[in-house]
Amino acid sequence: MIDTHVHTEFSADSSAPVRSQIEQAIRLGMPKICITDHHDPDTPFTELDFTLDLKSYFPAMEALRKEYQGQIEILIGIELGIQRHIADLLETLSRSWPFDYIIGSSHFIDGKDPYDASFYDGRTEEEVFRRYFQVTLERIKAIPNFDSLGHLDYILRYAPNQNRFYSYDRYRDVIDPILETLIVQGRALECNTGGYQYGLGTPNPSADVLRRYRKMGGELITIGSDAHDPKNLGYAFAQARSLLKECGFRYYTVYKDRKPCFYPL
Ligand SMILES: [Zn+2]
Ligand SMILES: [Zn+2]
Repeated sequence: MIDTHVHTEFSADSSAPVRSQIEQAIRLGMPKICITDHHDPDTPFTELDFTLDLKSYFPAMEALRKEYQGQIEILIGIELGIQRHIADLLETLSRSWPFDYIIGSSHFIDGKDPYDASFYDGRTEEEVFRRYFQVTLERIKAIPNFDSLGHLDYILRYAPNQNRFYSYDRYRDVIDPILETLIVQGRALECNTGGYQYGLGTPNPSADVLRRYRKMGGELITIGSDAHDPKNLGYAFAQARSLLKECGFRYYTVYKDRKPCFYPL
């Protein structure tokens, strides 16, 4: 299967050379790979600088695309950190570069990073989870120019109890509107196998959410490992494939030139 969520040394939190990810994809037999490095503008509260140097990124990816022609197809993507107050900036950026694929991801809320231990100070997990889903919905509505919503329940990864006290049923009133909005807008939902890697025992989002999305009529599902290191490329893809089939999906989606292409599961 094709991995469409991959980080490299162009991301502040990865030191993987682009070639190491490409070579690993070839070893795993992937016909294509989509590199999606982080770009989270206006996040002064984070320790790392998640600004992507697009002027270096694009030429580097284009050169590699040429070099590996005939061995593997390299798609050029980006993982955009979505925030409502920078909607205009994100719109301009999305139109300024010829991306194949744009993932929209909620990483930070209320000017804070869920990765920091202090994030939960004075707030219960339930309050934070609800706020995260509500903010994500507002962002999807305000930011029209991305293809797939990345790791819908990302907030669980660094929560003090992760998903121990979480269930789709408990949060369906705030999750269903997100799924409905994506479906109406014709945008995809990502099945991010990083959830397995972070110890959640499920992808992000969990099986119940994937099932619900399918039941509501959602058909566009993208797959990515969120690998920051080649050893995690294509992580738990076999598990994800059978889970998606169980949930009623027959195809997964890979974007090229910002257009969906379908591959059998
Ligand atoms: Zn992410
Ligand atoms: Zn990522």
